[in-house]
Amino acid sequence: AKGAAMVTAVAYRLTEQSRQIQQTLAEFRLSKAQLLEVKKRMRAEIERGLKKETHKEAAVKMLPTFVRSTPDGTENGDFLALDLGGTNFRVLLVKIRSGKRRTVEMHNKIYAIPLEVMQGTGDELFDHIVHCISDFLDYMGMKSARLPLGFTFSFPCHQTSLDAGILVTWTKGFKATDCEGENVVELLREAIKRKEEFELDVVAIVNDTVGTMMTCAYEEPTCEVGLIAGTGSNACYMEEMKNIEIVEGNEGRMCVNMEWGAFGDNGCLDDIRTQYDQAVDENSLNEGKQRYEKMCSGMYLGEIVRQILIDLTKRGFLFRGQISETLKTRGIFETKFLSQIESDRLALLQVRAILQQLGLDSTCDDSIIVKEVCGTVSRRAAQICGAGMAAVVDKIRENRGLDHLDVTVGVDGTLYKLHPHFSRIFLQTVKELAPKCDVNFLLSEDGSGKGAALITAVGFRQRELDAQ
Ligand code: BGC
Ligand code: MG
Repeated sequence: AKGAAMVTAVAYRLTEQSRQIQQTLAEFRLSKAQLLEVKKRMRAEIERGLKKETHKEAAVKMLPTFVRSTPDGTENGDFLALDLGGTNFRVLLVKIRSGKRRTVEMHNKIYAIPLEVMQGTGDELFDHIVHCISDFLDYMGMKSARLPLGFTFSFPCHQTSLDAGILVTWTKGFKATDCEGENVVELLREAIKRKEEFELDVVAIVNDTVGTMMTCAYEEPTCEVGLIAGTGSNACYMEEMKNIEIVEGNEGRMCVNMEWGAFGDNGCLDDIRTQYDQAVDENSLNEGKQRYEKMCSGMYLGEIVRQILIDLTKRGFLFRGQISETLKTRGIFETKFLSQIESDRLALLQVRAILQQLGLDSTCDDSIIVKEVCGTVSRRAAQICGAGMAAVVDKIRENRGLDHLDVTVGVDGTLYKLHPHFSRIFLQTVKELAPKCDVNFLLSEDGSGKGAALITAVGFRQRELDAQ
């Protein structure tokens, strides 16, 4: 009888424990009504960003890009491109050939940006970038060419022309001093001058979302939206000029870099943010900023997971109640680990092996819980990201006075490409929340590099024409 009582007690403890874990995770499980509400709020923030009176204080900035059309296939020439702000920093040479057989040939090299450079002074950062360009030009044997350059700079910039962009604020892991409020194209030009080794013609500054849209539009003219679901999260789309009140002119369209990562910075998502989201925010380099991005991009999903695991461990539900040094380490759960943990083909034993690799000793029960936590966090990410996209495509549909819209979205980003479930749940959500739109998603091949070159080609040609 005593034995039976003990078994009952253990069983009770287990069900009580799983009830509490489920209760914790329930906060992350959003209903359709909640997702529709996210969509609606995104739509309201879009309007605030576009309108002259509200633009200044708007959280979602809706920044003009001065990209007025998608490519038409006549782009031609050799271009240099820089890609800063994604998973890797790269320098690229892009050779675009127009004509009957259009081709784009690319050469690129990846360079590391050491943490102390990312978070040092602006001069150090830009000197490092120019040093990498110099190395690349040597490697390609092209130092004397004075090529036109497109600078993919994946941070919010206030643009006043194609080749001027004032950094609004750093995001993701960057925090170099003396850059915010500065025109980063000038910072780059000055660093090139300081080096006195080569000349370049900086023609365009490009957000990665815009590069992605342009790359896909080169193959598929119906592509008028760009999405990055990677280290950071953001979207751009072709908006009617008449709706972009901070830019003169009412004719045609212009691509708007939404900077939707800042959605929620005015508190409008507080009712769905959890204590774990708040902890991630407080632990970040940019507290209070990019709140939506912190709920749905690769740089932060692992951090949310880590905060939940710490809490569950404190409450004695995981890792025998022991919080290890590893679990206290920021950034341990990179997108690639989350992707592995959530892979359906992986047996629990392999999940434990991954946790072991990270320095976490787990029991079989632990690994089940960890996997469920990861799945819950990434599902919410895909869903709220989908709710944001649903707002965008419906906005385009309404702009054009259509009952039904067919549109293509160009997509890039490690989370979208590597994660086993993110893209599927994201697509499903867009479909459910924007039933009047048929949205076709096209993966971009190297959008940041190719897109920057395409935009540079268009800008370069326009400048030659203007000069005539
Ligand atoms: C930046 C955006 C960028 C996105 C994806 C965000 O943190 O603010 O400019 O497009 O990351 O890289
Ligand atoms: Mg990128």
